[in-house]
Amino acid sequence: MKEPTTQAAVVRENVRLSPYTSWLVGGPADFLVEPQSEEDLSAGIAFGCERGLPITILGGGTNVLISDKGIRGLVIALKKFSGLSAEVRDGRLSIEALSGTSKSELLKTFLKNKLEPAIFLAGLPGDVGGGVVMNAGIGEMLKPREFVEITDAVEVWNWNSDGQIQKKKMLARELTWSYRHCEGWREAAGASLIAKVWMSWPHEPKEDVLSRVRSANQVRLTKQPLDMPSCGSVFVNPPGTSAGRVVEAAGLKGFAVGGAKVSEKHANFIVNTGAATASEIAQVIRHVQKTVREKAGIELKTEVVWLGDWA
Ligand SMILES: Cc1cc2nc3c(=O)[nH]c(=O)nc-3n(C[C@H](O)[C@H](O)[C@H](O)COP(=O)(O)OP(=O)(O)OC[C@H]3O[C@@H](n4cnc5c(N)ncnc54)[C@H](O)[C@@H]3O)c2cc1C
Repeated sequence: MKEPTTQAAVVRENVRLSPYTSWLVGGPADFLVEPQSEEDLSAGIAFGCERGLPITILGGGTNVLISDKGIRGLVIALKKFSGLSAEVRDGRLSIEALSGTSKSELLKTFLKNKLEPAIFLAGLPGDVGGGVVMNAGIGEMLKPREFVEITDAVEVWNWNSDGQIQKKKMLARELTWSYRHCEGWREAAGASLIAKVWMSWPHEPKEDVLSRVRSANQVRLTKQPLDMPSCGSVFVNPPGTSAGRVVEAAGLKGFAVGGAKVSEKHANFIVNTGAATASEIAQVIRHVQKTVREKAGIELKTEVVWLGDWA
């Protein structure tokens, strides 16, 4: 079949999304575009708007559960929309990154300069844009430990149904940041994305940054089931405790439906043991929520974002 093309990017039809997620599950997108430039991205948005398609944004796919039925409309996958530049200015390392730039690229830039943000970024998967949207970070009391502390500003693209795009620079302090969440940039669901992120940190090199990055990676290897597909922590920590502890206390380690299993190593991870479906992962999530509600009276909320057709 001939692939529809926009002015710049190629739009593919009926594309399986499982390879675009760290859980390796999820059905097809009706249409998928993978922009590599601002021109591609504008053309992708125009393609969706001209056909009246709902538009869904995918970053690194490391915090999403995509339905087995897939996602209707157009998915814009930003992984290839990447690139960063860095310079030392006014005593700070200032970085400008396209939102699809991987966090590991960002880590390398901080590491090259021996700066502390490299430590919390160690082992954090996904892209910079997803890092902002999820206010990704770690539980340990380090400084910095979350994206809110290193982000100065973002460039938001908003569009209307005619495909007219408005680009707006928003300062980090104009956004609403909370635990694993950032709001205030989105004008309307399905009609906004973060295209660029500006970050900075005092240029005060520390000699122990590399060894601390190595030990952070080592801790993850020891504590997390990194040998199996997952999306990291599935549940947000409830106030005053950790979700993993609560799930473990409810006796749910090892609970499985088909190929989806609560990890024996870390109870807040649900791993794909080989051939899990999104529906099996969803069943495990719901069973964990129900059991923890009944046994501990705690309402576990998912950190993972549910995308696609779950009706
Ligand atoms: C092994 C493993 C370990 C993990 N450890 C951690 C951890 O320690 N701490 C932590 O915070 N997270 C962790 N995560 C979860 C995940 O990596 C983070 O939440 C990450 O920041 C998500 O980024 P992403 O690019 O993959 O976003 P995605 O999963 O692709 O998207 C997440 C959400 O953001 C939206 N989105 C993504 N990019 C954009 C954009 N540019 N504009 C608008 N919307 C966008 C998507 O629509 C979706 O709603 C882990 C995941 C794995 C697999």
